[in-house]
Amino acid sequence: MSRILMSGGAGFLGSYLTDLLLDTGHEVTVLDNLCTGQRENLAHLDGRKGFTFIEQDACDPPPLDGPLDYVMHMASPASPRDFLQKPFECLRAGSFATHNLLELAEQHSARFLLASTSEIYGDPVPEHHPQKEGYWGNVNPIGRRSVYDEAKRYAEIVTMTYQRERNLETRIVRIFNTYGPRMRPDDGRVVTNLVCQALRGEPLTLYGGGQQTRSFCYVSDLADGIVRLLFSDEPKPVNIGNPYERTIRELAETILKVTGSSSELITKPLPFEEDPRQRCPDITKARTVLGWEPKVSLEDGLIETVKHLRAKLERQPV
Ligand code: UDP
Repeated sequence: MSRILMSGGAGFLGSYLTDLLLDTGHEVTVLDNLCTGQRENLAHLDGRKGFTFIEQDACDPPPLDGPLDYVMHMASPASPRDFLQKPFECLRAGSFATHNLLELAEQHSARFLLASTSEIYGDPVPEHHPQKEGYWGNVNPIGRRSVYDEAKRYAEIVTMTYQRERNLETRIVRIFNTYGPRMRPDDGRVVTNLVCQALRGEPLTLYGGGQQTRSFCYVSDLADGIVRLLFSDEPKPVNIGNPYERTIRELAETILKVTGSSSELITKPLPFEEDPRQRCPDITKARTVLGWEPKVSLEDGLIETVKHLRAKLERQPV
């Protein structure tokens, strides 16, 4: 049994990781300032043996006693709407918080895992599609999305420098688009936006016409991949995501089918000029090194997501 500190554990993905790690016998202390995380994502764990919640910014030293085996840095605003509303929080999560938690890992001789992102690839050029871990990316350094992209690129190099210069054991996961229950209905992401629009009978908004592509991974698959990486020997970044690429228009059509909605599809302007046109992970490394690949189909994953969002909308219409 290991003792794990996880920043951002009240977030969508962090809360699934917390569940999975507790279920497999580990102790998890969650550090979260609830800037975008939601305490209700962890409410079912209150009072459970091995679970502790500390409401605190990941930039501050956590009040911890005793040994620590793993530090997982999952904290950051992560939806494009958050990038616009919380730009400094994104920058601080990638920079100060990463330094703080790496230092903590070093003090405890703990292994450190960084949640990085496919955003570090930016808007990939066609010869690097799908994206392999060796691709350096095509990122606007000063755009409005860049508060996230560049903070994560910085976080990766700080992590690699602790590994190279201080012999700290580190892991880096590059996370591609993920969806599932516990997403915030108002997070502005494409799955939540389109599902909520379909459930309310409103038109589904395709930004820029919907020909751009994404590859959507169901959250339980993603959490499984990250935990495998945490306990693996792989010191370099690993893509975790679903390699089934589709256009946003195709996603919208699947959402209409799953919800039974007869909403129309309309076009809206792209909110960011650097909105990636294509995104798809090459997961050869995850397959060979971790023995991992996603199992849940988009249709099955959407059914669960729709149930969650329907219940949320009924409780508090957004
Ligand atoms: N998008 C869309 N309609 C929406 C929300 C998003 O067409 O209501 C598009 C967005 O422009 C992007 C893609 O869907 O090309 C995925 O957007 P999301 O915000 O989920 O995350 P991203 O992958 O861009 O980080």
